[in-house]
Amino acid sequence: MPGNVLVIAEHWKGEPEGVTFQMLTRGRALADQMGCKLDVLVIGHGVGGVAANLADKGPDAIYTLDDPALETAACGLQAEAAVAALRQLSPRLTLLGYTLVGMELGPAIAVRLDVTAMTNCVSVDYVDGAVVVARPVYDGSLHARMAIDPDTPALVALQKGATPTLPLESKNAPVEKLPVDVASLPKRGEVLQFIEEPVSDVDITKADIIVSAGRGLGDPSKLALIDECAKALGGMMGCSRPLVDQGWLPRERQVGASGKTVTPKVYIACGISGASQHLAGMSESRMIIAINKDPNAPIFQVAHYGIVGDLFEYVPELTAQARKG
Ligand SMILES: Cc1cc2nc3c(=O)[nH]c(=O)nc-3n(C[C@H](O)[C@H](O)[C@H](O)COP(=O)(O)OP(=O)(O)OC[C@H]3O[C@@H](n4cnc5c(N)ncnc54)[C@H](O)[C@@H]3O)c2cc1C
Repeated sequence: MPGNVLVIAEHWKGEPEGVTFQMLTRGRALADQMGCKLDVLVIGHGVGGVAANLADKGPDAIYTLDDPALETAACGLQAEAAVAALRQLSPRLTLLGYTLVGMELGPAIAVRLDVTAMTNCVSVDYVDGAVVVARPVYDGSLHARMAIDPDTPALVALQKGATPTLPLESKNAPVEKLPVDVASLPKRGEVLQFIEEPVSDVDITKADIIVSAGRGLGDPSKLALIDECAKALGGMMGCSRPLVDQGWLPRERQVGASGKTVTPKVYIACGISGASQHLAGMSESRMIIAINKDPNAPIFQVAHYGIVGDLFEYVPELTAQARKG
């Protein structure tokens, strides 16, 4: 099928985000294997600096969509603009980061263009003429490898850190502005304000006791339960990555391969499955206690003590006992 590989660049305050360089590294390798070119799409306002920064990082061409209305990552408008750009560029494979921006943008683009979308991927390869991705299934206890129909265009959103950033040969990519009438696109919503995360002095690597929350918590309003338990035990609250990705907690609380490495005296994992990337950050803890409803959760393979049960039953009890003690 004709068409190039296209990376949708993510940037903030005039600088490309790290995930964009990861996508470029992977995109370059895929384009070479697929015998096509690697393009980059930069959407925003005043994005000349971002395009110039990316021009020597491996792509063959850079396309910009520059308009004051695209200054902020404004909900639907970014997606509408991306769709208008993709209609002109007709990529065979679109790559973007599975970030807070990509989570919103990827499916919105895919549904409008009727392309096959694979999100939350941990790898993307080109095998026997097909794009093949891997993504977590069944609570992350397995990864499914899936081949995308080679006759349909595809969109793949890759997790941050799933692929490394490598230095690439500069192709001095030309930068071209795409003619898109942004004013005619439906706006759907606007960003009113950016609220900066307050600088904090939380350092979970110094805690003797960490009580960590996982996706099993189900709802950010339940975080107080974990925090209370951590405080009652004289420790700190940590978490798994999905809670950070969903904006429930700041990154400084994340334990794991792309977060903090901790070695407390006691690590209590609540509703955490025990994916390898989480274990990478806590498996050296002196004592690991896991609370999980699923007796087959991988966390039990590293836990010294395990409770197969509902965290909403056991965590409040632990808090109560700690307060008594
Ligand atoms: C490159 C890369 C880097 C990564 N870096 C990190 C990292 O640094 N840290 C990290 O954590 N992850 C990281 N991940 C993500 C990792 O692969 C997993 O997706 C993540 O750790 C899963 O988080 P979780 O265990 O909270 O959620 P899930 O895997 O969804 O597990 C939720 C668990 O909660 C249990 N549960 C549900 N309800 C209850 C209940 N009421 N009571 C008790 N148990 C319950 C379920 O049985 C399940 O086991 C990374 C992934 C990649 C690809």
